[in-house]
Amino acid sequence: MSERVTILGGGLAGCEAAWQLARAGVEVDLWEMKPGKRSPAHRGDGLAELVCSNSLRSDNPENAVGLLHEELRRLGSLVLSCADATRVAAGDALAVDRERFSALVTERIRGEPLVRLVHEEATHLPGGPGLALVATGPLTADALAAEIQALCGGRLHFYDALAPIVAGDSIDREVAYARSRYGKGSGDDYLNLPLDREQYQAFVAALLAGEKVAPHAFEELRFFEGCLPIETMAERGPDVLAYGPMKPVGLEDPRTGRRPHAVVQLRREDAAGTAWNLVGFQTRLTWPEQRRIFTSLLPGLARAEFLRLGQVHRNTFVEAPAVLAPDLSLRARPHLFLGGQITGVEGYVESTGCGLLAARAILDRRAGRPFRPPPEGTALGALHRHLTGRGHLPGTPYQPSNVVFSLFPPLEGRLRGKQARKAAHVERARRQLPEWIP
Ligand SMILES: Cc1cc2nc3c(=O)[nH]c(=O)nc-3n(C[C@H](O)[C@H](O)[C@H](O)COP(=O)(O)OP(=O)(O)OC[C@H]3O[C@@H](n4cnc5c(N)ncnc54)[C@H](O)[C@@H]3O)c2cc1C
Repeated sequence: MSERVTILGGGLAGCEAAWQLARAGVEVDLWEMKPGKRSPAHRGDGLAELVCSNSLRSDNPENAVGLLHEELRRLGSLVLSCADATRVAAGDALAVDRERFSALVTERIRGEPLVRLVHEEATHLPGGPGLALVATGPLTADALAAEIQALCGGRLHFYDALAPIVAGDSIDREVAYARSRYGKGSGDDYLNLPLDREQYQAFVAALLAGEKVAPHAFEELRFFEGCLPIETMAERGPDVLAYGPMKPVGLEDPRTGRRPHAVVQLRREDAAGTAWNLVGFQTRLTWPEQRRIFTSLLPGLARAEFLRLGQVHRNTFVEAPAVLAPDLSLRARPHLFLGGQITGVEGYVESTGCGLLAARAILDRRAGRPFRPPPEGTALGALHRHLTGRGHLPGTPYQPSNVVFSLFPPLEGRLRGKQARKAAHVERARRQLPEWIP
């Protein structure tokens, strides 16, 4: 196949994919709407702009995102090499000078003879048969988002409402009891944290008083329409939560036979029960406030380890397991691939990784061979597992995710302690990745 590949979006995923394709000898047209038009969060003129924090998070491979850094470096990632070259001191985090980082990515892309930069907004999806990658990110411009929405039959979302996730072994099982509402499912699918009236009232008061993240100007209107943070529900009346996400009906505590005044329901994030989601607890409380309020006022969470904290923010993403084939192409338009945050991965590094995955899939398609996904035990494989719904529990909604060890397949054998489990994940990933390196 000799046609050029079109990439829409010169962010982290689009630049990474363009680089990987060009390095493999493929000609690319890379469309970026800046500087003529900007999303509400983008400010600079360069490619690969980091719109918020300047940190690509932990660089320690015993952290899942640090492991992803390591894999991306081994695969010749443009983004990681530019991040390393513009690094600033930040402990074990990989933080960068954002201006120099974006300038360096731009310079390398401009210097790549097989990439042609087109500074224009894409208002339509490219028609086939030439292959194209859509990597327009969490703030995809409206016209294009509407076309993707039409192709996905409504499975494109504009907001993320993320509830916190806690590590299973940090929940106090003397307090939590296993039960699903009215004993549905296998009867004990959920963990429940019971609250009496005083505990509930103290919790609601803390939610109301707690410090919140101010919404961006472009978020407010639609955020109140679509996905209500728990503190917004609490503002509507003192009992609203007890009749909503903290409803105790059908959740009698088997140890007392009585129904608590309110409950916090925890739903499994993975089959092994290493991670549990606080159902309905999407929130705009600041992260320190979430830790303080949840650990001090929710019974059973005093020693909780948060694998993810809650947030509500603008984010354009598709329900990847339903609308994407395993090679990240749209089932409805197989010549169109999706990459980056629009697929439902979350964060700078994950979006970069997903851009790299999409480029590998495009190379396989062009070569007429089936897509070879990354080995499951690697960090890239864990992202791919997430995007294809493997490891997802039936009946749970698809939600964007950072790379975390609970996305990885369960480890074999019994390993005692978190450090031992992290080390085993790293060992397995390092053993498996070479199978996939070109
Ligand atoms: C307000 C905000 C704060 C965030 N804070 C963090 C954070 O602190 N840490 C973190 O890890 N992640 C953060 N994220 C997420 C992070 O921005 C993404 O994970 C990452 O940038 C996604 O990479 P991407 O390449 O998929 O999209 P982007 O980096 O957004 O790149 C998409 C590019 O496509 C362009 N584009 C959009 N539509 C069109 C079109 N129709 N035609 C042509 N070009 C188009 C855009 O201008 C942009 O350059 C934040 C996101 C937002 C919105």
